[in-house]
Amino acid sequence: MLPVVVVHGGAGHIPKDRAEISYVGVKEAARAAYSILRSGGSAMDAVVEAVAMLENNPVYNAGRGSVLNVKGEVEMDALVMDGRTLASGAVSAVRRVANPIRLARLVMEKTSHLCLTAEGASQFARTMGVPEVPEESMITDYARMRWKKNLDPDTNPMECQTGKMGTVGAVAVDLEGNVACATSTGGMTNKMEGRVGDTPCVGCGGYADNHIGAVSSTGHGETIMKVTLSRLILFHMEQGKSPEEASDEALAYMKERVHGLGGVVVVDPKGVWSAHFSSLQMSWAAAQQEQLHYGLYHGEDFTEPV
Ligand code: ASP
Repeated sequence: MLPVVVVHGGAGHIPKDRAEISYVGVKEAARAAYSILRSGGSAMDAVVEAVAMLENNPVYNAGRGSVLNVKGEVEMDALVMDGRTLASGAVSAVRRVANPIRLARLVMEKTSHLCLTAEGASQFARTMGVPEVPEESMITDYARMRWKKNLDPDTNPMECQTGKMGTVGAVAVDLEGNVACATSTGGMTNKMEGRVGDTPCVGCGGYADNHIGAVSSTGHGETIMKVTLSRLILFHMEQGKSPEEASDEALAYMKERVHGLGGVVVVDPKGVWSAHFSSLQMSWAAAQQEQLHYGLYHGEDFTEPV
């Protein structure tokens, strides 16, 4: 099996002068995840590592760099799913953890539940010995500036979703043909306190099944949830469509039916992959066969050696 990883840095609208920087993090994350896969690591290890790197990068809306809720606070959502067993783990509206994606994996591996939320998730983190980080250290000047603009996520979802790089996610196939997905976000600027988006919801922010493939989604959470975007893509693949065709069809349906824009990264168990979006941009990078592909605008597919 040829291993592959595909990473995204959020769907939305990134100003031209920030385009260059949006590639950097996703390329680094794809390279790191690919080296895990190449040395026999699991798809789960690869996607969690890629997403944790992007959570640590203040450029993206996840972990440090997350957007702020209406009270100017950070509440984060994250999901992992293992295509071997359909096991998943998630955290929602969690505060003061550097890497919600690692906490989501702990929920999957150490509890009998799929999702822990808010204070319960923080309590679980303490039990697991995950260090608490001061909220201030997670807030960037950029996130605070956008919060001060008092953007309304209902009337202007695209503006709240981005303006900088967005939600992060990854899908992978390992040497054994197992697939996995991981997605992590700070959500939408000025969201209500306690708002939970698509990201931690199985079938919305991501889905992974060894029999079909894996997806990580980004975009306006409330519309992604209406169409269960990730599972819808896999449904189309079950009907015989390629990852590219299935993504195109599901994103077109989401636009027509509920006027939502977004983006996805997808793999099938044979290693066929796609990075597809209906938003203006989505930064993405994919590594396979020692080649790194990446892009931001529609039609872009730059290539360089891994
Ligand atoms: N889907 C995320 C949310 O609604 C936002 C994004 O992908 O940019 O929380």
